[in-house]
Amino acid sequence: MVDSPQPIYVPRNAGALPQRRGVAFVIVMSIVTVGIYLIYWDYKSFQEVKAYRGRGIGGILGVISSILIVGRFVLPSYVGRMYTDAGQPRAVSAWTGLWTFFPLVGGIAWLSFVQGALNDFVAVGEAAATASMSIKDYVERDREVVEEHECPHCGFIDNRPPSTHCRKCRQPLPGPTP
Ligand SMILES: [Zn+2]
Repeated sequence: MVDSPQPIYVPRNAGALPQRRGVAFVIVMSIVTVGIYLIYWDYKSFQEVKAYRGRGIGGILGVISSILIVGRFVLPSYVGRMYTDAGQPRAVSAWTGLWTFFPLVGGIAWLSFVQGALNDFVAVGEAAATASMSIKDYVERDREVVEEHECPHCGFIDNRPPSTHCRKCRQPLPGPTP
């Protein structure tokens, strides 16, 4: 398993990561401007998500579709696909749009979920870029590091998938803990 060639990950997105925006800032600005800021936010979010993914509807159509409610389902659907395209479980999906049907509180919840998911994605994306890795590889590497285990005989710390024998001293290892 370890020695099998890894499939080459070709990112389907070559665009820049979206901007990070504070969740509280976005909510407060939307309320204070009686929704004017939210139109700007819709425009920028759709535009930036399209720039990153290289597909989907952009800023103008994003604003129009958001006014017609359907955009409230489309945007979290796009953000969810950013996650799945990068090999991560989706943080939001089209279902997130259902929050829009609860007046005010639902809108605040929707904004915090979508902006929060965007911010979390960008944070991982930036860390992956710093490590010169695709997000998918970066997340998988993190998963393997979590699985690191120490040999009770020689103290060798292995971060590859568990084996029956120590890769350094060849002594048998205890079975995986359930
Ligand atoms: Zn050992």
